Amino acid sequence: MKDANFLKEHNARHLWHPMAHPADSQANPPAIITGGEGVEITDVDGHRMVDAVGGLWNVNLGYSCQPVKDAIAHQLDRLPYYSIFRGTSNDNVIELAEMLRDFFAEDGLTRAFYTSGGSDSVEVALRLARQYHKIRGEAGRVKYLSLKKGYHGTHTLGASVNGNANFRTQYEPLMPGCFHVPAPYTYHNPFNETDPERLAQLCLAAIEDEIKFQDASTIAAFIMEPVLGAGGVIPPHHSFMPGVRALCDKYGILLIADEVITAFGRTGDWSGSRHWGVQPDLMSTAKAITNGYFPFGAVLISEKVAEVFENDTSGEANIGSGYTYSGHPVGAAAAIACLKETERLNVKDNASARGAQLFEGLQDLGRRYDVIGDVRGGHGLMCALELVSDRQAKTPIDKATIGKMHQTAYESGAMLRVSGNNVIFSPPLVIEADQIDTILSAVDAGLASI
Ligand code: PMP
Repeated sequence: MKDANFLKEHNARHLWHPMAHPADSQANPPAIITGGEGVEITDVDGHRMVDAVGGLWNVNLGYSCQPVKDAIAHQLDRLPYYSIFRGTSNDNVIELAEMLRDFFAEDGLTRAFYTSGGSDSVEVALRLARQYHKIRGEAGRVKYLSLKKGYHGTHTLGASVNGNANFRTQYEPLMPGCFHVPAPYTYHNPFNETDPERLAQLCLAAIEDEIKFQDASTIAAFIMEPVLGAGGVIPPHHSFMPGVRALCDKYGILLIADEVITAFGRTGDWSGSRHWGVQPDLMSTAKAITNGYFPFGAVLISEKVAEVFENDTSGEANIGSGYTYSGHPVGAAAAIACLKETERLNVKDNASARGAQLFEGLQDLGRRYDVIGDVRGGHGLMCALELVSDRQAKTPIDKATIGKMHQTAYESGAMLRVSGNNVIFSPPLVIEADQIDTILSAVDAGLASI
């Protein structure tokens, strides 16, 4: 490895970072991470800290998951690549499809289509939704509805249904036919409603109104995250997603659950949809499917959708989507090992217990620090603090102050993730109680420093 000074100096020269201004790495050099063990990471200077981000919501089993590492190494030796485009398959993708069917049986999802990541999975799910209606003779159903604050990756279709201007305005005009409805975000909403249940009902009414306004016969799908993640961890009232499901059924619209973050235990259930008692028509997954060790994703398909495609005799159901790395045998091997470990360790229960501990600790900080405007969580290991300079006016805290808080927490032993004026927590699901305490005391130190 090159030495620390070389790396720091050269980072800014030839490398543009995702989700950053190209000049930013000069002004604010990034942490250079060189090691990971358990739920901790180490930077190039040898500073070790608990990873409260869990990679990027994906390293659910931590950095030392030997079975996944072994599966990757073994598969690289045996068959490092082969495509699964029409005419070929491989043993791993078949075994994995079987495992996913069992894993998501309660969600009613019985078929898998592989991708190389979350944005791909979203893209494929949105395309399949349109195609489903075409096969059924409803070619006019082409529009998509989604939630403001939703995040659905960065492909152009995903960006079009994305509900955050930061990912949209640079690339406009985006896809026509994508419409956004209010999210059940208790802290900020256009209805000024602070009761989560009443807010859920108001949002559902707004969705129904939009469906009627657009004309239901023009809408292909509603896409939503069961808990809004990148938008700042916004859990809805438990009546919300079932309400969306009911509206989709009423108007013949497909429900796509974007579970790139929430599938595989993050919410304390094996899927976010199951957490709310909902069966989606399509589900996009990625991230934790391989514990983040290999780029891989899957779209999971319900029996209802599968039947329409499989019974088609017109040729309309031919799938015109797929990636060179769809069903990569190494990714599939990693996913098989990861799924086995995920179930063996029953990480969803630890996500619930440690998530409750983290949420309580953050609520306690919320009572002590005026800078905390809102504390969100309560559904597994997904929490957020929204920081404000004025609690009454809910004015977002400035970038420099939240940056200082982040840096102090870093020096105090926790890697946090800042997104706008939110601090987002998504640690590995195998985290232990004392490591949650380490995160909380680092956050405490960070808040004290501002
Ligand atoms: N959908 C959701 C809900 C996500 O959180 C993300 C990534 N954070 C994506 C899609 C895109 O996934 P990827 O970054 O793997 O393309």
